[in-house]
Amino acid sequence: MMICQHFLIEPTKEQEEKLFYTLYLCRKLYNYTLDQRIKHYKEYGKGLTYEEQQNMLPKYKKEHPEYKAVQSQILQDVLRRLDRAYKNFFDKRAKYPKFKDKYHYTSITLPQSEAKRNFGKEGYVYIKNIGHIKIKAHRNFDPTKVKTINIKYHAGKWYINLSIEVEEEKEKTVIREKAIGIDKGINSIAATSDGELYSNPRWLQKSEKKLKKAQRQLSRKKKGSKNREKQKKRLAKLHEKVANQRRDYLHKISYNIVKHNDIICVEDLQVKNMMKNHKLAKSIANAGWGMLDKYLQYKAEREGKIFIKVNPAYTSQRCSGCGRIVEKDLSVRVHKCECGLEIDRDVNAAINVLYEGLRQLGITA
Ligand SMILES: [Zn+2]
Repeated sequence: MMICQHFLIEPTKEQEEKLFYTLYLCRKLYNYTLDQRIKHYKEYGKGLTYEEQQNMLPKYKKEHPEYKAVQSQILQDVLRRLDRAYKNFFDKRAKYPKFKDKYHYTSITLPQSEAKRNFGKEGYVYIKNIGHIKIKAHRNFDPTKVKTINIKYHAGKWYINLSIEVEEEKEKTVIREKAIGIDKGINSIAATSDGELYSNPRWLQKSEKKLKKAQRQLSRKKKGSKNREKQKKRLAKLHEKVANQRRDYLHKISYNIVKHNDIICVEDLQVKNMMKNHKLAKSIANAGWGMLDKYLQYKAEREGKIFIKVNPAYTSQRCSGCGRIVEKDLSVRVHKCECGLEIDRDVNAAINVLYEGLRQLGITA
């Protein structure tokens, strides 16, 4: 059976340019061959097959010498993708294939990996014409068992997705890659798709209360008075203490999450903030959402793990079990759906964040 592993890769500037150029050429070929199928159908009343298009490829390459820059296996995969898109359409699993812009053509695939050739240099993947690209592997894999190599660009980062053959009997001993979704909330700082809730610890709540009290006291002190100066210093100290405590706590949470997971999906706060109201915005600041994301990201990427931000639209309203939209306001703590699912609302959202993250990475859950 096949399993998938995902790592970050770090192409040099020059390699990145070549990768973008390769994506551009592959996309151009994809759109060309789609156009070819459409025209052929109009003219002859029947479509083209993968084999027919593959036979036309040498002529196309001759007419477009820039395609020398791309390995033929990768180009063949482009035709195979189009063929799959048609198959999915005929099987009623998808809409009619579309022409792709650069936002919808973001990966290249080498369908037959060769251990010696592609992984001859340890810690690197070799792609012809592009060179040895550094892999940030956070776990070992056996290069002789890698079947296909997929290189994907997403939101400023490059990833390598490997499909790896695993023998049935060894399957149980192979540690599966683990993915997690995180929903940042108000009642608890974070809820995970595993059902864990990280709440604001009591000692932190206590410190925050003290801080508020000190703030009130300051406002009652006379301006310019000695007492006011004293209170100001006290307040500053308290602020620092609370900030430190919160940082420590967020470090602990993020450490825990990154340690046990390989793919970490969170909501994109920039988008989430756009949907905020004033009260919510204040809680965002208090709960340190942005800080948690920052910690998760650098800890994950330091180890070559994947950190991905997803659009939070509908993550809290959609049922993670059946996909229905179950509307509820912030005061409703439990997600209850007709399909029978009844879970914490934040955990439900976290599961949706996970699904969306995997979808974005091209991994089907
Ligand atoms: Zn449901």
